[in-house]
Order: sequence, then C-alpha cells, then structure tokens
Amino acid sequence: MEGKLWRKNLIDIEPYVAGEQPEDDKIIKLNANENPYPPAPGVQRVIREKDAQELKKYPSADAVPLKKALAKRYGLGIGNVFCGNGSDDVLATAFRAFFNSDKPIFFPDITYSFYPVWCELLKIPFETKPVDGDFKINVCDFYGENGGVVVPNPNAPTSIGVGKGFIKDLLDHNRDCIVIIDEAYADFGRYSCVELINEYDNLIVTQTFSKSRSLAGMRVGMAFAQPELIQYMQAVKDSYNSYPLDQLAIETAVASLEDEGYFKETVGKVVSVRDRTAERLRAMGFDLPDSETNFLFCTHPKFRAEDIFSYVREKGIFIRYFKKPRIDSYLRITVGTPEQMDALCAATESFLEENTQA
Ligand code: PMP
Repeated sequence: MEGKLWRKNLIDIEPYVAGEQPEDDKIIKLNANENPYPPAPGVQRVIREKDAQELKKYPSADAVPLKKALAKRYGLGIGNVFCGNGSDDVLATAFRAFFNSDKPIFFPDITYSFYPVWCELLKIPFETKPVDGDFKINVCDFYGENGGVVVPNPNAPTSIGVGKGFIKDLLDHNRDCIVIIDEAYADFGRYSCVELINEYDNLIVTQTFSKSRSLAGMRVGMAFAQPELIQYMQAVKDSYNSYPLDQLAIETAVASLEDEGYFKETVGKVVSVRDRTAERLRAMGFDLPDSETNFLFCTHPKFRAEDIFSYVREKGIFIRYFKKPRIDSYLRITVGTPEQMDALCAATESFLEENTQA
C-alpha cells in the first residue's frame, strides 16, 4: 500500500474539529454554542405540517423565499442577500470567491479555527495577527497590504465584541480588498455592521440561524453585501452545488424570521443567563472577559482548565477545551438554560472544593 504512486497526490489537511455530539441525551451539552431553547413555534408547525409529497421537487433555486424574508427583516434588497448551508458554507464560498490574491489574507491568531482550514484547502496564503494579552484585536495590525481580511465580531472563542468605531476604522484602512465580518454571534452582542454594506462596496457580513435562532440542525446561513459581491458568491455556489438549501431549511428559516417576538425573548433569556453565570464564575475566582456571545471564555488562576473540563465531563456536562497555544488555560462554556448553568456551576464548585482540600 505504502508504495502506491497515487498516495503522493492525496490532500494533506488537518480538518476543523467541531464540538462533540454525544448520543446520550442526558448529557448537558454546553460545548457547541447551540441555543438551549427550541426554535420558534412557527418552525415546529412547518415541520409538523410539511407534506412529504413536495419533496419530489427540487427546492427553490437560490432560496428565493428566504432571501425575500431576510431582505425584508434587514431592510435590504433581495440582491443584497446570499444564503448557504450554515455560515460555514457561506464563509467557504466567500473565501473561494474573493481570496484569489498572492498576498496573504489577515485574521486574528485567536479566532474561529475554520479560517486556516479553508486557507489550507483552497491554497490561500494567510497571516495571523496576534490579539493582545486581554484577547483584544488591535485594528492597526490590519492596516497593511493584504489579500483580504476576516474578523469575527464578536470574536470566537474569546467572546469579545467591538463597536462601530473599530469596524469603520478597519474598513477605512482596507478599501482595496474584501473585508468579511463574521457575525455568527452578533445577535447576542452590541453591534452588527449590516448597516454599513451600502457605504462600503467591499464589505461582506455573514450571519447564521444556528445560534440566535436555534436552527443549528437545519444548516442555514447568510451573507449581506452589495449586489455585485453577492453575484460573485452566487457564481461560485452555482459552480459546485446549485441547490444548497433544502425545502425544509428554507421554510423553517422563513418561519423563524416571522416571529420577531420569540427571537427577542429567547436571545434576551440567553443574554441574562450568560451575565448571571459570568458573575457566578467570577465569584468562584474565574477570570473572564465580558461576553457578547452565547458562551463564556474563562480561566481560573489556581486550577488547570483541562482538569475542570475532565471533571465536569465525568459528571455528564460537556464544555469545550482547546489544547492550543495561548488558550490552553481557558474553557469555553456555552450558555444553556438556568437549570443547566446551575448544574455546571455546582459541578465546578465541587471541583474547586475537592481540589482546594487536597
Ligand atoms: N463563525 C463562527 C465564529 C462560529 O463560531 C461558527 C460556529 N461553529 C460559524 C461561523 C459557523 O456556524 P454555522 O455553520 O452553524 O452557521
């Protein structure tokens, strides 16, 4: 086998590793930044009432009903909207469409770990810009010549967000390349820059239904930009998969957008549980930045993050630990229901107690 000549042509890539999806539904899952609340009641109705007969047909090419609903929700034209299979698909499409330069694209060193994977896959040169000791992104690091810029706002896994001033500064210093702002968590934060797409013809904003709309399992994501950029993304999409969104994904996403009240209520609950949990963790001695997302990124000065991770895992609570430079003393904890966070805090407290006595 070793000697097979075709082996030298195989792809050599280290894939992105997603949070574990255990089979056991008794596990308290706080490891994938999913929303603990169900999708809007209208989404459940669509699924209940769907006539399987309709599945004989292909879905709407380009997810037109969803684009219309998104355009209405965000006060944009349908030509400003792109839809894909989760924002991962949308981001990968944008990387393919816009990052074809010999110059490196820039993104922070601590950020969504899918970016370097797409760069490897698509052979895009990249340069990472170190965040500071408090995990803040220094906008000046992004002023230099580049082949494109990607910044998540809020950033992941740090949970830190930036405001309009930062984004405008970034855009004003990057007029000749495409700037992608990944807003997967923006609904939990202070600022979304969708309003800037009319002002900056090189700005792409990506968002998702996976977090704030509890539809991770449906895989729906979108991008907002000026029509010319959307057309380039559409051309890439139509060059490898012309019907990425299935009928149920389109219909449930539309139903979710129709219930703004439910959306606001569940986002509000996540935000208040998040802030309460942050205070509890601080009272236990953890350090953590103020989160603008649906997760907390915390470290304890006296205990190893990996030990806490393993301990709560034994108790059936899954959180995320990244054994990576600069963040290996941190835990990323998704915000769940108040009861789930009580269980997490109780398990953490008993870890601290047991290990303080020893
Ligand atoms: N961007 C960031 C920063 C994320 O954390 C995630 C979730 N893993 C995504 C994009 C992609 O999410 P989805 O494909 O579910 O929209």
